[in-house]
Order: sequence, then structure tokens, then C-alpha cells
Amino acid sequence: MHGPTPATTTRTRICPDCDGFATAAITTGTRHDDGTRALLRVDCRACHGTGTAPLRPRLTTADLEVAA
Ligand SMILES: [Zn+2]
Repeated sequence: MHGPTPATTTRTRICPDCDGFATAAITTGTRHDDGTRALLRVDCRACHGTGTAPLRPRLTTADLEVAA
């Protein structure tokens, strides 16, 4: 099991959909033969389990429309 990727070290930001909590383990209510719970792991659909999202391109002055 791995933790979320820290958003500060890469050019990414924390996923706004899952807030960095990219994978949820849902118990199915059944148990394996050894007594452990049968879990269903579901990844965030927006970031596919990474917990990060790419940064939006920066707004430059060329992007701004001047009102006349
Ligand atoms: Zn996400």
C-alpha cells in the first residue's frame, strides 16, 4: 500500500475531487477463509488513484481580453 504523492515536490496539485484520498477500500461484508475482510479497492475516477491533478496553465497577459 502506498501513500499519496506529495503535491509540493512535483508540478501538480492535490486532486480537487478526492482531496488526495485517491483510493477507498470498501468492505464487502464477506470474509476470506483466514478471517480477513474481503475489500473492494476503488480509485478516484478523476485522478485514477494518484491523488494529484495537473496544474492549469498560467494565465498570461496575452490571454486577457482588453475591454474597449
Ligand atoms: Zn482524485
